[in-house]
Amino acid sequence: MAPQLKLVTREAKKEKTLVRVGDTVIGGEKFIIMAGPCAVENREMLLEIADRLHRLGVTILRGGAFKPRTSPYSFQGLREEGLKILAEARERTGMPVVTEVLSADQVDLVAEYADILQIGARNMQNFELLKAVGSIDKPVLLKRGMAATLEEFLAAAEYILAGGNEQVILCERGIRTFSNHSRFTLDLSLIPVLRDMTHLPIIVDPSHGTGNRRYVSPMALAGIAAGADGLMVEVHLDPEKALSDGPQSLYFNQFEKLLRDLEVISPVVGRQLDLSYKMPSEATWKRTRPLRIAYQGEPGAFSERAVYQYFGETAHPQSLVSFRDVFQQVQTRECDYGVIPIENSLSGSIHENYDLLLEYDVAIIGEFKMRIVHNLIAHPGTRLEDIRRVYAHPQAVAQCRLFLSQHPEWEIIQVYDTAGSVKHIRDHQLKDAAAIASAQAAEKLGMAILKEGIESNPQNYTRFLVISPEHIVNEKANKTSLIYSTPNKPGALFRTLQTFAENNLNLVKLESRPRSGRPWEYMFYVDVEGSLFDPAVKRTIDALRGMTEFLKVLGSYPASA
Ligand code: PEP
Ligand code: MN
Repeated sequence: MAPQLKLVTREAKKEKTLVRVGDTVIGGEKFIIMAGPCAVENREMLLEIADRLHRLGVTILRGGAFKPRTSPYSFQGLREEGLKILAEARERTGMPVVTEVLSADQVDLVAEYADILQIGARNMQNFELLKAVGSIDKPVLLKRGMAATLEEFLAAAEYILAGGNEQVILCERGIRTFSNHSRFTLDLSLIPVLRDMTHLPIIVDPSHGTGNRRYVSPMALAGIAAGADGLMVEVHLDPEKALSDGPQSLYFNQFEKLLRDLEVISPVVGRQLDLSYKMPSEATWKRTRPLRIAYQGEPGAFSERAVYQYFGETAHPQSLVSFRDVFQQVQTRECDYGVIPIENSLSGSIHENYDLLLEYDVAIIGEFKMRIVHNLIAHPGTRLEDIRRVYAHPQAVAQCRLFLSQHPEWEIIQVYDTAGSVKHIRDHQLKDAAAIASAQAAEKLGMAILKEGIESNPQNYTRFLVISPEHIVNEKANKTSLIYSTPNKPGALFRTLQTFAENNLNLVKLESRPRSGRPWEYMFYVDVEGSLFDPAVKRTIDALRGMTEFLKVLGSYPASA
């Protein structure tokens, strides 16, 4: 590593830097979207774009007030007037704003209005500007200069950190090459290289990177696969009439499609798409204390990661011993919410949590799926042939059956905590044992991964539910969960199912569980498409009341992609 880099390197700091703006954390478990027009053109246009982006769940609004233009005759931006409009959009929607600052003497003015200050590609080596943003207390988004090498890019970031500001986000936005099929060449190969070299978050800007809206979405999808922490993308109501960068600005329908695709891809690459409507409350960043989120397991457990995936790194996960404790703490409001696994794509339902949903007075307010990659973990230096015993959670054993069956000589010892199994072999110095857990658990506990990805099938997802002491149904809710029991007579279950059909409601899951203390009687758990606000769902529930012995509405929430 070049000697002039001291603060930005992984050697200087091992763990990733998390850049915080309000409730949004850039560089954590969530993939962040910054969207908006190239330039703030007028108040009406910006407010309408902001409202529409907010309704789609976008968490950060972009828009240039000071525009660096190649020609002095092009639109130069609304300057301070533009900053005021951005601030108004933030007030209306709660979305923090990112906007460009062109010179050192503008820094104080822009910092008065913006939540993140952008240094544009043309200014990446404006060292006085870098020093100026190095001394402020706001995040800086630093774009790669269009002819900057990796070292020059990092050295520019080093200026900002050297000034005392560590809240820096790097942005790959395309460089000049001999290729002329696109405006710039989006250098996606930089992303994994940067990831290795620096702890700073990295985002990708496929709008400037391609210069053509047809190619923005494919490169955005490639960006998340390459490991970017987020996306900056230009969106316009009427790109044909945009005052700058119209040809690369997405129409809203293209942008909506891109969001849907990103939501599907995110879990595959280990992330969650950051969508504001998935969070329980809108104005959450006005809260005075962090949310306390209950989960079962030790720190490093998959469930702890799930807490960060849904609530972001501003939340405080509360490690609890049992699932019952999670329900208890949510019901009594000792914790604000809880996160519980309900179903795994390889090993099936987590029945205990189905039973607890019946027993406790809590509501489901969200769901999401997380990809589960299991690893065989041991002390550094331990070899595969040294292993005699494997400590693992029964769920992990079930999900790694094929790999474990190749080693019939290993004794399997069940433990009820994936991260806890790693801690156990570490604390007891068990050099002939291994554990099965996440890469994060190995890293956190200083243990080595002997074999990566030992789950029987890479399509291994766990669906988690977010539980709350009270019902919260937002306008994006499109799935409703119910529990009921029917009288013990012919056709009773059939009649309930017929009611769903008559109301044209699609069932997406039906599960039965034994009723406790009533042998051979069952509770039915039903997930149905639609929200409690839908007349058809309401009608169906009313009808079910007349044909069931027991009925509990668990909640309505946005279904995971
Ligand atoms: C912009 O974000 O609108 C912009 C001018 O970007 P860049 O500095 O990457 O050209
Ligand atoms: Mn632009």
